[in-house]
Amino acid sequence: MSNESLANLLREERRFEPPAELAANANVTAEAYEQARADRLGFWAEQARRLSWSTEPTETLDWSNPPFAKWFQDGRLNVAYNCVDRHVEAGNGDRVAIHFEGEPGDSRTLTYAELQREVSKAANALLELGVRTGDRVAVYMPMIPETVVAMLACARIGAPHSVVFGGFSADALATRINDADARVVITADGGYRKGSASALKPAVDEALTRPGTENVRNVLVVRRTGQDVEWTEGRDVWWHDVVERQSDEHTPEAFDAEHPLFILYTSGTTGKPKGILHTSGGYLTQVAYTHHAVFDLKPETDVFWCSADVGWVTGHSYIVYGPLANGATEVLYEGTPDSPHKGRWWEIIQKYGVTIFYTAPTAIRACMKWGDDIPAEFDLSSLRLLGSVGEPINPEAWVWYREHIGAGSTPVVDTWWQTETGGIMISPLPGVTATKPGSAQVALPGIAATVLDDEAREVPDGSGGYLVLTEPWPSMLRTIWGDDQRFLDTYWSRFEGRYFAGDGAKKDDDGDIWLLGRVDDVMLVSGHNISTTEVESALVSHPSVAEAAVVGATDPQTTQAICAFVILRGSAAETEQDELVTELRNHVAKQLGPIAKPSRILPVAELPKTRSGKIMRRLLRDIAENRELGDVTTLTDSSVMELIQKQLPASG
Ligand code: ATP
Ligand code: MG
Repeated sequence: MSNESLANLLREERRFEPPAELAANANVTAEAYEQARADRLGFWAEQARRLSWSTEPTETLDWSNPPFAKWFQDGRLNVAYNCVDRHVEAGNGDRVAIHFEGEPGDSRTLTYAELQREVSKAANALLELGVRTGDRVAVYMPMIPETVVAMLACARIGAPHSVVFGGFSADALATRINDADARVVITADGGYRKGSASALKPAVDEALTRPGTENVRNVLVVRRTGQDVEWTEGRDVWWHDVVERQSDEHTPEAFDAEHPLFILYTSGTTGKPKGILHTSGGYLTQVAYTHHAVFDLKPETDVFWCSADVGWVTGHSYIVYGPLANGATEVLYEGTPDSPHKGRWWEIIQKYGVTIFYTAPTAIRACMKWGDDIPAEFDLSSLRLLGSVGEPINPEAWVWYREHIGAGSTPVVDTWWQTETGGIMISPLPGVTATKPGSAQVALPGIAATVLDDEAREVPDGSGGYLVLTEPWPSMLRTIWGDDQRFLDTYWSRFEGRYFAGDGAKKDDDGDIWLLGRVDDVMLVSGHNISTTEVESALVSHPSVAEAAVVGATDPQTTQAICAFVILRGSAAETEQDELVTELRNHVAKQLGPIAKPSRILPVAELPKTRSGKIMRRLLRDIAENRELGDVTTLTDSSVMELIQKQLPASG
């Protein structure tokens, strides 16, 4: 971004008060903000008491060598014990931890007592395979209970896991195995996705032929699909051979609060993924607290469902560690939302009586495109709270979500955070905040966020700039694995002493925060910085548009010209396109002002997305500027780019 701060174009006047009953019984009230403001470290020290420590910490934060933080440094705990055993010891062993739903329709229920036995067996198996405290274990799995068990087993013995999303290629897996220097890989023969068995083991076999993966001694393989697998004797072992015969008792050992818990690579939306390191005590404190506060979880009665893949940070923090630390009952679903039919998610919510549902804008927009009549066929009355994460949610999608999934009455919490932040940072509190569609609004109690301009001055209300975090937080990344310098350069060099998130944001007239997309994506048009998010939201607010991606393409007259790629809804795709394009350009001009009027609008069938569902604007920018495409390895489907290129008029 340059001199001029980000323009504030979008006006959103809709407000939704918390339901009275939720507010009256909310886990967290407005008082928490006061308390944390008065004594931030005292607030976090109190939240750390949600956990069971074998040695209670006496020091909350050591910030003597910033930005290398140490939280609860002299405390000791076992993360898996906190997520499993202590609930059994408290008499809740019969409570369901996981309702697993396989894509083909098979299902399985694990209580906390069963989970304790499974995790103990897996921990014993890893020990038998020679995994020692500190050894890294790569996990390349479908969304099945063994994946959660494997992660907790690693945590139990102090072996940091590195989960690699099961949709990644052998190359992506090899780079991540190499970077983390993993000693064991846990995988499955395959998993079910989009209606068929999709193999995983061949990618592991291939990855392990690549240089830099020689230190992998064993591959532990879960049988899920029963498909044929190649076998390397001495290296490969079946989960059912090795894990099943272990003792179901294992005494957890306590580790330092700063013991590494996991390495996780970022989604790669903006470039080469970064190996983010998270540690134990601070991470677990913040994910447990935020899961309690933002989702208002009542462990005795709620059924929680986060639809993310465990391969992403959302899955780590809000499928595995946060909910289980809080003793939640949750749903784990293996497949895609449209297998075998487009109502599958709603069917699952009906089946398990899900009360809290957490998903991503990309999925919400897909459901909008498929039509309101699909969720209407199911009983979604159990839902009492909805959450969103991963991208800015367009106000229109937010309202649709509340209306068609939440019966027009459940609060929607838009949660901003990153792999690097470990847990939710900016979000409404469902019992406190009057929500605004499209805005993450306020930093959580104990979190300090603001928006700065180029000169590192806080922007006044009503203006935009760069989102920064001004105080350390418990679940912050500790470094980029093996690369302290990149950690410093990426996050701590742009603004002295403050964490630079890489996202653009604005404060509205009430001081609430709106996320405006990646700083790298911000467009400069005739001297004004314009956010991709605002132009996209204006397009999506037109009834003919299902999804939009906007980029600034270099243009000699206006510096950058706004170029929009849109997916049209149902019948709009068949109408006269030239007329519609003109209408859409005028619609944006009316919503945001003439400065934001796109110079080109191109209807397309698909948009390029990362495997976590985020739009990859840099590739669209390459297209708009007639350049060769950059790195496409984290793309879901590289044929999408060919499709778009084919659809474009020959000139650029
Ligand atoms: P990379 O850092 O490798 O480019 P990534 O940033 O997509 O990948 P993640 O850590 O999975 O990797 O995503 C975090 C980013 O997602 C945030 O920085 C932000 O851009 C976006 N994001 C997440 N939640 C929200 C939200 N509620 N509103 C707006 N943007 C969000
Ligand atoms: Mg990022």
